[in-house]
Amino acid sequence: MTATHVPGQPVLEDGQLISTNPATGEEAGRVKVADTDAVNAAVEQARAAAVWWQGLGWDGRKTRLLRWRSLLVERIQELAELAHRESGKPVTDGVMEVAAAVEHLDWAARNAKRVLGPRRVRTRLLVAEHSGHLEYQPFGVVGVIGPWNYPIFTPVGPISGALAAGNAVVFKPSEYTPVVGQWLADTFAEIVPEHPVLQVVHGLGDVGGALCRSGVGKVAFTGSTATGKKVMAACAENLVPVVIEAGGKDALIVDEDADVAAAAEAAVWGAMTNAGQTCIGIERVYAVEPVYDRFVEAVVEKAGKLRTGEEIGPITMPRQLDIIRDHIEDALAKGGRAVLGGAEAVQAPYVAPTVLVDVPADSSEIREETFGPTLTITKVRDADDAVTRANDTPYGLGGAVFGKRDGIRIARRLRAGMVAVNGTLTFVGMGNLPFGGVGESGFGRIHGEDGLREFARAKAITVRRAKSLLPAMTFERTPAQVNQIVKALRLLYGRKP
Ligand code: NAD
Repeated sequence: MTATHVPGQPVLEDGQLISTNPATGEEAGRVKVADTDAVNAAVEQARAAAVWWQGLGWDGRKTRLLRWRSLLVERIQELAELAHRESGKPVTDGVMEVAAAVEHLDWAARNAKRVLGPRRVRTRLLVAEHSGHLEYQPFGVVGVIGPWNYPIFTPVGPISGALAAGNAVVFKPSEYTPVVGQWLADTFAEIVPEHPVLQVVHGLGDVGGALCRSGVGKVAFTGSTATGKKVMAACAENLVPVVIEAGGKDALIVDEDADVAAAAEAAVWGAMTNAGQTCIGIERVYAVEPVYDRFVEAVVEKAGKLRTGEEIGPITMPRQLDIIRDHIEDALAKGGRAVLGGAEAVQAPYVAPTVLVDVPADSSEIREETFGPTLTITKVRDADDAVTRANDTPYGLGGAVFGKRDGIRIARRLRAGMVAVNGTLTFVGMGNLPFGGVGESGFGRIHGEDGLREFARAKAITVRRAKSLLPAMTFERTPAQVNQIVKALRLLYGRKP
């Protein structure tokens, strides 16, 4: 490795991508970088593998996916330790990440047939002599492009959905966590050795771009909003559909009847878990005036106990440290106050827990994704005020509400794809709920029924059951038959409700 190497920064050397631990600089592993030809070859192989995979049928795929699930459970410690070595995250965070991945893999495997399989639909007036059939057919090959912050959980969501739907997958892991990505594909190949149904291609952004242009049927991207726009542009060249899971600036609202201690505990975990490098991490809190002081005190007390190098791991991507420092400095320069941490919190590769109050709404700490263990707490008049401010962002990924009487009502009004009431991030623990954002946080859904449908095309088939009594779809209909059709329409649909 070169002498100027920065711990955690990926290095390209002799066609290899070398991945290192951001805290220690120790090598976590090396993988071969793919060029455009290699990406195209992987997709070509995947196309053939997909035919075989589809031929296994729903039950054959389910059995194999559940075997892979069980392998992940068996080797949970090994995978969590690998994620720790490569991304720096605490091993326990890695364990929880695998646990969430297992939940989604299990659900997708068990439910794909029910959600996507062929079914009859009720017939309709105009073509009463035809039966209707609906099924969801796979795209063939799906490209998955992943980030580094949850290198297990984030790709396993779309990979599970895509595989369960009958697609083969070519996965481009983040250049910061290629070894974890390779581990996922290698273990899948232990369960499914026959064909390369799940492959990985490694490299920087250009390899992701090559995957978008390789002829895949769909791309599932998870990463920053800026890159999401580039992915969409690359996919647009061939009208390849995309799912975009991008950044966020999630808010937690504390209402007047909230359990303040529970809200503080959840806010600290939601903001600081994985050192705040969580797309659905809590970055802003809006607490109503009557509970504000008690809430701030409780958050400071709890967050103050977290230790860097223990519960708070290093910042995985070295250049993020500058962004976090800039946000904290901007908040302080604009009149915000640090009640914990502050300007000195950033000590590479760590950031100490930082809680900021009185931060103006135009500060970058309120407006942009910080992706560090920082939290702003803003005093608001009431829940309406909280909702207005929480929604005042181009992002709309997740969110949280603490309160008793109006918790769900407030949750409904948040402009976000997922909201936890009296918890944070809890929606990722349910394989039957969809996951995805609005606005600059992206579109499309992974997980749950919507997530399965994302990786298949709806296919409609009608089948004639009898001769047409009221032939609507033919030149051979008579004026009398047209009149009968109009009569039937009047009878069935004419009366205003
Ligand atoms: P990133 O956008 O820098 O990279 C994501 C992936 O895209 C990487 O694999 C990268 O190599 C690839 N890439 C880069 N340029 C590309 C291009 N031009 N074409 C195709 N692929 C390209 O994001 P990151 O820093 O790895 O991840 C952090 C971001 O991900 C944060 O913004 C976070 O909020 C977001 N995120 C979102 C979710 C979600 O589900 N919404 C989940 C986790 C992370």
